[in-house]
Amino acid sequence: MFSSQHLCRLFSGDITDYHRFIDELFSRRVADVFSDIPFYRDHLASKGLTPADFRGISDLSKLPVVDRRTLQSRPVETFVSAAALAAGLPSPAYTSGTSGEPLQLYASRDFYIASFHLMQLAYGGSVPFTASCLSEVDRVLPEQDDCQVHFIARSNSVAQLFERLKEIRPQVALLGPRRWRKLVERYGHELADLNLVVAGAAGAASTPEERAYLSGFVGCPVVDMYGATELGGAIFECPRGREHVLAHHNYLEILDDDGNPAAPGHSGNLVWTALDNSIMPLIRYQIGDTGQFAVDQECDCGWNGPIVQGVGGKAREKIVFPTGMTLNAFKLNVEVHRTPGPPLFDDYRFRQAEADLIRLSAVRSNDFSEDMLGDLLSRIEKLLGGHVRLELVWVDAIDQPMDKPVYFVSLEQSRREAAAGAGAPVTP
Ligand SMILES: [Zn+2]
Repeated sequence: MFSSQHLCRLFSGDITDYHRFIDELFSRRVADVFSDIPFYRDHLASKGLTPADFRGISDLSKLPVVDRRTLQSRPVETFVSAAALAAGLPSPAYTSGTSGEPLQLYASRDFYIASFHLMQLAYGGSVPFTASCLSEVDRVLPEQDDCQVHFIARSNSVAQLFERLKEIRPQVALLGPRRWRKLVERYGHELADLNLVVAGAAGAASTPEERAYLSGFVGCPVVDMYGATELGGAIFECPRGREHVLAHHNYLEILDDDGNPAAPGHSGNLVWTALDNSIMPLIRYQIGDTGQFAVDQECDCGWNGPIVQGVGGKAREKIVFPTGMTLNAFKLNVEVHRTPGPPLFDDYRFRQAEADLIRLSAVRSNDFSEDMLGDLLSRIEKLLGGHVRLELVWVDAIDQPMDKPVYFVSLEQSRREAAAGAGAPVTP
């Protein structure tokens, strides 16, 4: 329907054309997909609305905000287009399930290549190209505009992943920062032989300091990317180091806890609408992460997507101070990853073990530096503002999932675990 070339031109061309395109795309999606999904068909009927009431993206607020629980409390078909169901569904994807029961998802990948297309060109590459990212299983998407996307199964070891990348020889590779760190640790400057044009670090708590360090080994820019199994790619870092939303792929609203738009510069809940998925698009989906629109929306990179910042912290992951005040726990993780140069820890986890105690369990890395550790601890103490004590415990290993590492355990969770396993050894 849309070539990736066409989308790339829109995203980097006149901003008025881009906005007009989003409006048209949205109203078309309501007419040809959204109104054919039982959950939304019922909503439209109950409100006396028809697709004609959705003329532009500003009408999006006529649809309800949903979250993971909304989806899990109903059969999956409730959120699947009736036409897609009749035509036969592709094999489903599942979210990792580290934050609850896995979600069953069906996606079309109409614009998938377009996202990589943008990144590839912005960082000096050319078309056609090959991109690699991770998935549940090894597979290749059908070629589009001579471009290819190879998925590599998450179950591959670091060594197998490196071998697969050498075979596929992609120009763009997207992996979690944790995997990039493991690759750097094991293969160092050999990674430059992959000849990547751009490497995406898709995952929470990645920082410019850490990406600069990784980049020295990978031999190309390592840039931040925010995506999710539910969405695909949604936010990419431009060559100026700013985070742009791929709004034609996944449209973003940032709402406060009352469901009103958060003002630029103020954090709120990320609420996504997939404009590219014609099978099971998540519409006004509150994913559980927070972030904010930047006050300054001007960027001379030439990309049209809205600019966001501070994205990634899980809304529910909070440190609760004895005074009742809270702090987004994500800030602790960010501090760890802000350490310049090699990582201090092979692994780590914060746990609010008591109302006034945060325990940092860490596995010392080979490149550990006492000075850097001192700096890190004082940055963290500053964040905690004297409300909570910090205790560092060195451990040999942490049982950590590779792609969705758990870097913080809340007080509530610690108490639940303590109640469930009284007398059991304390886990990090
Ligand atoms: Zn930019």
